[in-house]
Amino acid sequence: MITIESVKNWIFDLDKIYNEQKLYLSELDSAIGDGDHGVNLARGFDTVKSQWEKTPPADLASAFKLISMALIKSVGGSAGPLYGTFFMRGGLVLANKNETGLDEWIEVLDKGIAGIVMMGKAQKGDKTMLDALYPALEALQKAKSEGKTFADALKASFEAAETGMKDTIPLLAKKGRASYLGERSIGHQDPGATSSAMLLKSASQFF
Ligand code: ADP
Ligand code: MG
Repeated sequence: MITIESVKNWIFDLDKIYNEQKLYLSELDSAIGDGDHGVNLARGFDTVKSQWEKTPPADLASAFKLISMALIKSVGGSAGPLYGTFFMRGGLVLANKNETGLDEWIEVLDKGIAGIVMMGKAQKGDKTMLDALYPALEALQKAKSEGKTFADALKASFEAAETGMKDTIPLLAKKGRASYLGERSIGHQDPGATSSAMLLKSASQFF
């Protein structure tokens, strides 16, 4: 279930993961970007965590708003505003809801992804975080149509995100800094798709 407590555990786990994976994510970004993706996310989620501890949100919508604002405020790179928009848009789905499951999570991802698209204008296959997020959403929708439990749907969703993440390796980047490299972006895994797969894997352990 998505509750204030499970969102807190998820977000605090993400802070731990992004700090542990800081070098790895920044190394991926060094190959096709400017090498700051891990540093950006570790700093962003450190800020989310400290904001949460300072002013614990009372409901799910305020929690997503807090996450969004902290990311936008503290991350200089494009991933901050993009993930910030994801949480802002996705969080609107949760207004007046306090215990939610698969149907709402599908809506959160759907609206969150739409926010990323609106802001960054990337499409599927452009070698961005969307190449992990779209397959994750599709896997959730498929799981729902097959009547799977929320837990099974979450597992299918992060596995699809990991496949999507690996499938970015042969892609040519069309958006973000990696696109400046043209053909030379081919053969490298996208850092944003990697951090998105981590985000969804962590969610599957707490919801
Ligand atoms: P910056 O590129 O500003 O240094 P980061 O390194 O934190 O920011 O994030 C890079 C990641 O952001 C990329 O790997 C990609 O997944 C994602 N990204 C960049 N531009 C876009 C975009 N227009 N739409 C979606 N995702 C994008
Ligand atoms: Mg970067």
